[in-house]
Amino acid sequence: MRLNQQTMEKHKCLIIGSGPAGYTAAIYTSRANLKPVLYEGIQPGGQLTITAEVENFPGYPAGINGLQMMEDLKQQAQRFGAEVRSGIVTACDLSKNPFRFTIDGQKELIADTVIICTGASAKYLGLPDEAKYSGKGVSACATCDGFFYRRKPVAIVGGGDSACEEALYLAGLASKVYLIVRKNHLRASQIMQDRVLNHPKIEVLFNTNTLGLFGEEFVEGAHLVRFKGEPNEEKFDVAIDGLFLAIGHRPNSEAFKHYLPVDADGYIKTEWGTTRTAIPGVFAAGDVADPRYQQAVVAAAMGCVAAKEVEHYLNNIKI
Ligand code: NDP
Repeated sequence: MRLNQQTMEKHKCLIIGSGPAGYTAAIYTSRANLKPVLYEGIQPGGQLTITAEVENFPGYPAGINGLQMMEDLKQQAQRFGAEVRSGIVTACDLSKNPFRFTIDGQKELIADTVIICTGASAKYLGLPDEAKYSGKGVSACATCDGFFYRRKPVAIVGGGDSACEEALYLAGLASKVYLIVRKNHLRASQIMQDRVLNHPKIEVLFNTNTLGLFGEEFVEGAHLVRFKGEPNEEKFDVAIDGLFLAIGHRPNSEAFKHYLPVDADGYIKTEWGTTRTAIPGVFAAGDVADPRYQQAVVAAAMGCVAAKEVEHYLNNIKI
C-alpha cells in the first residue's frame, strides 16, 4: 500500500550512513534539536569497523580500535537524541521537496533535508578468478578474514595506506606476506612504507600485476607478471592461501546518481568548501563526496559542516 504524503512519516533531517560523517552529522543536528533519523546502511559503523587500529584520529594518543570508536560515536549521537535505525535506503525521489525515501524496499518516509554519508566500498581487480574463489581465499578485508590464514602465506594487492596497513596486520598472523604493487614505488604515507619495507615477513613485489589464481577448490597460488608489456616481462607464480584486495574504493552513490551530478569516478559533486549538492536541501559528506582525502577526521568534519548547513537551510526556509 502506498501512503500519501499527509500520512507518511516525516522528518526534518534524514542521515543516510553510519560512518564518522553520518554520526558526526547526527551529533550536531540532534544538538540543534532537529531530531535527526539516521539509517545505518549495509555496514553499520562503516569501514572503520573493519579497521583494527585507528592511529591518526586526533584525541587518541595510544590509538583506538575502529569498532570501538564507531560505537563511541554512535552512543554520542544517541545521547543527544539522534534516532539510529538499522536499514538501507533502497530508493529515493529527490525531484521535489520534501524528499521521499524507501527503506529496505518497503517502508516509505519523507524528509525536508537529507545528508548522504554512504561512504565507499572496496574495489576488486575484475578478474574472473576473484568471483571463482570468493570466500575460498579471496577477500577485501584483512581484519575480517585474516584469522583464517594463521601461519599460512598470503598476498595483498595494492600500494596505498590500506594495503600497507593490511600487510602489517596480516604479518602478525600469516607465515609470509607478499605485497603486490603494480608500480615501482608505494603510494602509502612514509611511516607506513617504512614499517612495511622493514618488516621481515613482508616481501614487496614491485612492478607486478596479478593475472589469475589457481587451486583445486580453495586458492593455492597466484599467477603474477613482472614488467607487464615490457621487453623484460617475466611471468611467475607464488604459493599463497589467500589473496587480499586493497586497491582503493568506489563511492556508494548509485542510489542518488539519477538526481545528483557525480564525477567520473562516481563521487557526488559538492560546491567547493561545502557539502551542498546540486539540489538545495540535499547534502553529501564523507567518502561518498571526497575523492581526495578519505580520512576519518575529514569525514567527521564534513559531517559537522553538513549539519550546520542543514540548520542554516531549514532556518532560511522557515520550516
Ligand atoms: P589508494 O587509492 O591510496 O591506493 C590504492 C593502491 O592500489 C595504489 O597503490 C594503486 O596503485 C593500487 N591500485 C589501484 N588499482 C589497481 C589495480 N587495478 N591493480 C593493481 N593495483 C591497483 O587507496 P587506499 O585505500 O590505500 O587509501 C585511500 C585513502 O585512505 C588514502 O587517502 C589513504 O591515505 C587513506 N588511508 C589512510 C590510512 C591511515 O592513515 N592509517 C589507512 C588506510 C587508508 P597506483 O599507485 O599505481 O595507482
